[in-house]
Amino acid sequence: MHPPEESAKPLIIPVFIPHAGCPHQCVFCNQKVITRSQLQTPSTEQIQTTIRSYLNYLTPNRKPVQVAFFGGNFLGIDRREIIRLLNAATPFVREGIIDGIRFSTRPDTLTQDMMEILAGFPVSTIEIGAQSMTDAVLSLCRRGHTAQQTVAAADTARACGYEVGIQMMVGLPGDDDCGAISTGRQIVALRPDFVRIYPAVVLEGSPLANWYRQGRYTPLSLSAGISLVKRLYLIFRKNNIRVIRMGLQATADLENGSVLLAGPFHPAFGHLVIAEIYRDRVIEMLKCREGAFHVVTLRVHPKRISVMRGMKNENIHFLKDRFHIRHVEVKGDPSIPDCYICLEVDAERSILNVMS
Ligand code: SF4
Repeated sequence: MHPPEESAKPLIIPVFIPHAGCPHQCVFCNQKVITRSQLQTPSTEQIQTTIRSYLNYLTPNRKPVQVAFFGGNFLGIDRREIIRLLNAATPFVREGIIDGIRFSTRPDTLTQDMMEILAGFPVSTIEIGAQSMTDAVLSLCRRGHTAQQTVAAADTARACGYEVGIQMMVGLPGDDDCGAISTGRQIVALRPDFVRIYPAVVLEGSPLANWYRQGRYTPLSLSAGISLVKRLYLIFRKNNIRVIRMGLQATADLENGSVLLAGPFHPAFGHLVIAEIYRDRVIEMLKCREGAFHVVTLRVHPKRISVMRGMKNENIHFLKDRFHIRHVEVKGDPSIPDCYICLEVDAERSILNVMS
């Protein structure tokens, strides 16, 4: 069974509210360098202008369309301000132009009280910033909440009928691969509708930047980040939980190195993760065979050609080197189901579900 993230094409209209409602700065965070073009919570007019400008590019295949308040702690904001923000987006939903509103918030702010404020507004999705389910890691990251509060927040949001997303991070101070996998499994137990997985990076102006400079924190390498996120992705997939994002959204500032000091950032991080999963599966298939391979043909659904080839054909080069193959050919074939690879060696064919 394939969760629907590949087929659905939602349009999320982001409205950045940098650090609005944050009780303090978590060690890894600096929203102001992520959203440098905008340092303040936008006015109602600015929000509505943003929504209209995104709607100009709306194509019929984008569904659902949601306005998203990101970059802060939505339910930590002053109540009157929450209502102002929701009121800015609500008319577009009432007029049927967009489908709903979503926001991200800390677990400790998602209380029954706050749910009552939301009740009259067309909020459809709540994203909970869990980051880790290990209390020692949360404490070291100065999150100011516990894993149990994430459990309670997810329960409360779901009981109120919201679609629930959970954000987690890997490579946090005090965490390791086992801890991240354990976080992933505990998040699965919360049965969210979707997750986002972010590798921790060192952002200028964050407390982590000082730790990094003092040698107190070493981020994951890009390859270790990809490998760990890959394991988590497969856990979520096997549990039919959509993974809607892996890696930070690329921005000009992140890409030109002016705000990113270190860490596993890549503008196509998610692509690299999926490409490695495809590569792993071919390795498994080839390891089961004996003898020399002269020509290996890999058939995949046409939309999977790029992940099968890997970034800059890395998968092809890797497979040729590892198995001494003279020629590896990747072919798009619409008859191959999405997420399957058909391996052809000489006259033999085998087919495998990549995500199984
Ligand atoms: S991680 Fe969330 S709560 Fe912490 S500082 Fe950043 S936006 Fe605020």
